[in-house]
Amino acid sequence: MSDAQYAYEQGLQAGGGQGLAAPSPRIVDAMNKWSGSFFKLTLPSGLGTKATIKSIEDEGAKVLSMGMYLGHRSANVTAVPYDGARYEGHTMKDESEGTLWMYNTDLPDGFAPAAGERFFVSLGKTHKCHQCRGQGRVRCSSCGGRVRWTERRGDNIIEKVCSCGDGKQNCGSCAGFGEMLQGLDVSTKYFFDERKDKEYSGRLPENLLMGSAGNLIFQHTADFERRVIAEAIDGFEPEEFDRLMRDTHHQLKSAATSSVGDKMVNPQILHGLIDGYFRGIPNPVAANKRLAEEILPVRMKCEVTDVPVQAVKYEYKGKDYSLYVYGNSGAVWTEGEKPSEFTWKLGVLLGVIGAILLLILIAALVK
Ligand SMILES: [Zn+2]
Ligand SMILES: [Zn+2]
Repeated sequence: MSDAQYAYEQGLQAGGGQGLAAPSPRIVDAMNKWSGSFFKLTLPSGLGTKATIKSIEDEGAKVLSMGMYLGHRSANVTAVPYDGARYEGHTMKDESEGTLWMYNTDLPDGFAPAAGERFFVSLGKTHKCHQCRGQGRVRCSSCGGRVRWTERRGDNIIEKVCSCGDGKQNCGSCAGFGEMLQGLDVSTKYFFDERKDKEYSGRLPENLLMGSAGNLIFQHTADFERRVIAEAIDGFEPEEFDRLMRDTHHQLKSAATSSVGDKMVNPQILHGLIDGYFRGIPNPVAANKRLAEEILPVRMKCEVTDVPVQAVKYEYKGKDYSLYVYGNSGAVWTEGEKPSEFTWKLGVLLGVIGAILLLILIAALVK
């Protein structure tokens, strides 16, 4: 068990009741760390130890993260030098039936963003090189086509001969072949498209809650690569994406029912979040442009994290205050009034300012 988790459970045991709360190391540590910051000048340090904690209420926030790992392939129409011999790479058989996912598909594991395959697919058509009009040769760039010429240096006349021999060099566009093969320059990237939702009705701001580490209480992954690849070879259609999502939705709900019931207050909450996600996702395949931009769903992940959030009421020097302790790291958030007094931090700052002023004064007097 990690320290944070231990502290969290200690915090939970202390929570719930009204009146004076049992000491909670998590809350005390969090308050001490927060009030110890030098830049909170008027906040008394060691507040966790000095204050009387009156109540701790666990607000049990759940953060749901769902996302799909997607492959994105895009293609640019291009042409490469062609030597007239047999072409060894991929060739598009029929452009009306083709899809970029027919070739070189080696899906990465996991959910990390990755650069994928890059390759060329021939469209089976050739044309003369525009640069050299199919000659394969262009004017020599060293001699400008002169081959032989003379240069005057003082009284001497020097004869120059270019190594090109005929005033020409191989064309850079077609590598001297004079012909170009038309095709697609295909590049691939893989990325995780994540959405987050929450089950929480307390006052802690959403951005703080969503950005906090907690304890993973449910995880489900669905790999669809095999099925999807088989369908992708025929061209992955928007209806197939919808069908895949329907199946995944059912699987995910039954997994949630069987494994999360004991860990969550109410599995209906998770069901609601899952349903909301599936209602909200756009169909990325519907936006595909054949042979130009094509998205392929690879796998899906759903996670529920229990982020500890505790509302704390405490008393300091006869006055009541409140704050929130949240996340595994025990960060503190407050709204409204905080204890404010003359602290050692303020003393140190005033001392430093005073010393600087004194030095300036002495320097002025010495002149
Ligand atoms: Zn030359
Ligand atoms: Zn050329």
